[in-house]
Amino acid sequence: MPFKLQFWLLCCLLACPASAALLEDIQQLSAPVMQGRKTGTEGAVLAQHFIAQRYASLQLSQFSPDYRQTFNFGNNKAGVNIVAYHRGCTYPENYIVVTAHYDHLGKQGRKIFHGADDNASGVAAMLELAARLTQRCPAYSYVFVATDAEEGGLHGSKAFVAAPPVSLSSIVLNLNLDMISRADWRGRLYLTGAKRYPTLLEELERHFNKLQFVHHRGLPRTARSNPRHDWPNASDHGPFHRAGIAYLFFGGQEHPQYHTPDDTWQRIQPEFLTMAMQAIWHTVQWLEQQPPTVLQRAVQ
Ligand SMILES: [Zn+2]
Repeated sequence: MPFKLQFWLLCCLLACPASAALLEDIQQLSAPVMQGRKTGTEGAVLAQHFIAQRYASLQLSQFSPDYRQTFNFGNNKAGVNIVAYHRGCTYPENYIVVTAHYDHLGKQGRKIFHGADDNASGVAAMLELAARLTQRCPAYSYVFVATDAEEGGLHGSKAFVAAPPVSLSSIVLNLNLDMISRADWRGRLYLTGAKRYPTLLEELERHFNKLQFVHHRGLPRTARSNPRHDWPNASDHGPFHRAGIAYLFFGGQEHPQYHTPDDTWQRIQPEFLTMAMQAIWHTVQWLEQQPPTVLQRAVQ
């Protein structure tokens, strides 16, 4: 570990203890050795191993060996989702599927697109969530999906929905995490899909003033022409939404380093990341208190 990173992690440990593990996972997943985690590359394989090892050390269950769900897309391309689950106690036959894509843009020439915010941050938050949920028997069963090939057209989540390891009708909700570690120019993190849960919305509004709620039907047509503004299709919750499954999507908006080689771990905002993790955890705790009929509430 370079001295600079040690120093930085120490500062963060003192300032915001909740983020240390998250920051380290982000740093590892966006390290130069991962080569930008482009689908089908050696860097992606390294990322797969990293995530599978973390699942294993959390003693998460697997549907298939090494947690791998392989799939094909496009013109003979292959992708690999890394999928684990943890069985719940109150509603074990009802699943909350947490998704976060681990793939990114790879390299252009010698420039590596590290993808620290996009989306090492979401994967790290998913791992943190798994670590917390495995400390007890949660109400719901949870499936954790680190998706591949999101950047090229949500292929990993499409493949998961096309061949789910549990029946689609048993999935009560998709919680999708994509770019959660930096504020956009308005200083905000965005949550889409919460309109169907008014009490959750009220609670989050009370506790998190940097959270912006987005109701995709309310967006003007012009805003939807920007892919990051087309909320139902902006990330991996899209295929779940189209399959009639309720979703909640925590995600950031574009920032100056979005999809550039400068989306590095050094630019992560630790306090913002801590706030995001708290909001995600608050949401999961709320979900845990609700019966499946409430979670399945019709898509807004
Ligand atoms: Zn992304």
